[in-house]
Amino acid sequence: MKKPMIMTPGPTYVHEDVRKAMAEEITNPDLDQNFFDYYRETCNKLKELLHTKNDILILSGEGILGLEAACASLIEPGDRVLCIDNGIFGNGFGDFVKMYGGEVVYFQSDYRRAVDVEKLENFLKEDHDFKIATLVHCETPSGITNPVDHICPLLNKYGIISVVDSVSAVGGEPLRTDDWKIDMILGGSQKCLSAPPGLTFLSISDNAWRKILNRRVAITGFYTNLSHWKNWDKEKWFPYTQPISDIYGLRTAIERWLQEASPVERHQKIGNAVRQSLMESGLVLYPVDGYSNTVTTVMVPAETSFQEINEKMLKEHNIMIGGAFGFLKDKVFRIGHMGENCREEKLYITMKALNGALRELKVPLKDDLHRLFLKNMEER
Ligand SMILES: *Cc1c(COP(=O)(O)O)cnc(C)c1O
Repeated sequence: MKKPMIMTPGPTYVHEDVRKAMAEEITNPDLDQNFFDYYRETCNKLKELLHTKNDILILSGEGILGLEAACASLIEPGDRVLCIDNGIFGNGFGDFVKMYGGEVVYFQSDYRRAVDVEKLENFLKEDHDFKIATLVHCETPSGITNPVDHICPLLNKYGIISVVDSVSAVGGEPLRTDDWKIDMILGGSQKCLSAPPGLTFLSISDNAWRKILNRRVAITGFYTNLSHWKNWDKEKWFPYTQPISDIYGLRTAIERWLQEASPVERHQKIGNAVRQSLMESGLVLYPVDGYSNTVTTVMVPAETSFQEINEKMLKEHNIMIGGAFGFLKDKVFRIGHMGENCREEKLYITMKALNGALRELKVPLKDDLHRLFLKNMEER
């Protein structure tokens, strides 16, 4: 059977060029001097993509490894850590912090809106005795992008190290790591960059390195211990054998991104057209502001259920959409428009199929979703 078109918020469709790169002949990545150059050059391309001069590491493991490695390496028992929480990932970050002995203080913000910067500013005026803060760039389950550009400079003003989970935003949303004073930005291979799952990458500022290298208590664990990576380039030594084929694939995906004139604008234009069309048809989005340009989260209409919509989309149209988990389970469905999936023709096909599925399920729509989508694509 033909594989379904995966319009999920990650993993995303992997381009043929990336798949071919992964089939390239390999060398011994621990011994071949050329591979050290290749790894460094790949990190340099990521610096360009992330707009940073800070060190970059690519680690073998899915996006969650980046989150855990940041927590394991930065946090010492008793450190006060601010967890900025307006969604499932923001809240879950606190669990990682606790695992490594951090004393978590949550700053909670409305789950249907982007983080309220003014409220955060007032909160920090009263209490800013934090070593580290964690936050999420795009809350993938709810489809909300947070104003990292305002939050991180604010944290920096108080000398708080910012750790930003940008796994579902890197490549699809504007991101200027250094201008926005982000100490650690965390990304993954399988979302807007459209490489297969398996790699995480992160940037480390001088401030973050200082905290990692000057701890009172040694770092627990090996795979998540970023201090081993401090001198990999000088010493031509990796803490473990690198997943060379995965890195070939990621490199090609990054190059495809860098070669395109304005991939972020493509996400903005298509993201906007998708949500406008859904709203104009009478459907209700979960977020009320801070709309993500990489994923759209829609309330399941009262006439039907997520299972029914999902089954029709998959069985009758061979299109996979996303559900959600946690408190959003069965309440919403999600359309990913990330990376290689963020293409007009793919969203047209998806909207047309969704239109058919919802109409069959007796959901009243004011107009056809695919027609609205085309109109909204032309308007901008
Ligand atoms: C996808 C994603 C991750 C990686 O987590 P998985 O659930 O293992 O895919 C981390 N953070 C965010 C915000 C994500 O969207």
